[in-house]
Amino acid sequence: VWDACLRIIQQHIPEQSFKTWFEPIRPLKLYGKVLTVQVPSQFFYEWLEDNYVNLLRKALDYAIGRDGLLEYSIIVDTGNEKHQPLTMNVSTQKSPNYSRPDNFATDPRMGTAVKEKDQDSLTLDTYLNPNYSFDNFIEGDCNRLARSAGFAVAQRPGLTSFNPLMMYGGVGLGKTHLVQAIGNYITNHYENKLVLYVSSEKFTNQFINSIRNNTLQDFTDFYMKVDVLAIDDVQFLSGKEKTQDTFFHIFNHLHQLGKQIIMTSDRPPRELQGLQDRLLSRFKWGLTADLQAPDFETRIAIIQKKIQSEGISIDYDVIEYIAHSVNSNVRELEGVIVSLMAQASLTRRNIDVELAKNTLRNIVMNEDKEVTIDTIQEIIADYFQVSIADLKSKSRKKEVVYPRQLAMYLAKEYTDLPLKSIGYHFGGRDHSTVIHSIQSINLLMDETPDVEETLQKLRSYFK
Ligand code: ADP
Ligand code: MG
Repeated sequence: VWDACLRIIQQHIPEQSFKTWFEPIRPLKLYGKVLTVQVPSQFFYEWLEDNYVNLLRKALDYAIGRDGLLEYSIIVDTGNEKHQPLTMNVSTQKSPNYSRPDNFATDPRMGTAVKEKDQDSLTLDTYLNPNYSFDNFIEGDCNRLARSAGFAVAQRPGLTSFNPLMMYGGVGLGKTHLVQAIGNYITNHYENKLVLYVSSEKFTNQFINSIRNNTLQDFTDFYMKVDVLAIDDVQFLSGKEKTQDTFFHIFNHLHQLGKQIIMTSDRPPRELQGLQDRLLSRFKWGLTADLQAPDFETRIAIIQKKIQSEGISIDYDVIEYIAHSVNSNVRELEGVIVSLMAQASLTRRNIDVELAKNTLRNIVMNEDKEVTIDTIQEIIADYFQVSIADLKSKSRKKEVVYPRQLAMYLAKEYTDLPLKSIGYHFGGRDHSTVIHSIQSINLLMDETPDVEETLQKLRSYFK
């Protein structure tokens, strides 16, 4: 069954990503419709869920059926030098708890990671994820205000003037990490405080379900009982008037009782279009703090912390190389490190600058980054199952000509190489051949919509 999944997955992502993220996965067992697979680390698992959840779902649908479930067994280093497998049961389907609002009453801790004491099995309900803490949050100029306000709130929830605490910043800059760190800190230091972390998306879905099931009262009662409400990515509430109304009531109720409210958003409040003014004005009652992209020193520190926590060592020049090359956000930085380690263990190589270069080329191809002609050729070759040598050859076979023309087209689009050198990279063709190729693709595009679609897909691999 896993092989069937892999075949589907392989068709949808570049070879390199497949190698990095799917080859290290080991199928363990299939019990009924539940497939259990083993993954090398917690982070690896998170990466899969963050980046490939839809693809995994698609593969499962196909290989097992719509009700198929995936469970991960994560290898966790317990510190006594032996790897003890710890099973974390996380399905790629939404947890059924959230579609049944009557669970609100029975499981007041809903919304936190519930640890069953006698087993070493963790059920992640939603994500108050114990791995996010202040200890492993690196402080830098880019996030100092948000971090210290967050820490103050964690120490004295509801008692500082930072209520609500609103933190905003671009994707992958640590908003969820911080808000979860606050939640974890409070959970660990105040036994009887009920902390609830919820994404705005989940909040909205719960709200909609409660309307559908006639349990709106239970829904609001549940939220009004908490001591700390952390609501992530409030930009998602934009335009959702009814959800905002209910959130407004909950907000007022909690705030009046001196309960702590923490929110995050991907943009500053003044740019939150589609959010009611009465909500926005309340956001300003407390403190608004921003998170910026990490500066070079912070990036170095983050990489060092990360590799240290994984128990490996990498030369400083590699760390520096990574910090120079990945400057957009922390999530990407972590992705690079994890895939570097996966690559190193797969190929049994040391992590050196060379390996880092290759990995970076294949993994972090964001928009700002230069897409090289080599990358284009690799991706095209992968996608059409032809060899790079074919692309550079004189072959006039249809199976080769079309991919070659597309590759030249994309080379023109993505690199600022002159036509002459593009030709040179395709087996020494001259610039008129390149022009001809580009024209052919343009013509084809007018005739068949598929071409545009293929191009879109290929472009998405460069990001
Ligand atoms: P956001 O919610 O802003 O999109 P996340 O909180 O999910 O971003 O952060 C993305 C990843 O980067 C997470 O794995 C997080 O642990 C990590 N991260 C972000 N900022 C820091 C930091 N300052 N120190 C350590 N790790 C960080
Ligand atoms: Mg987030």
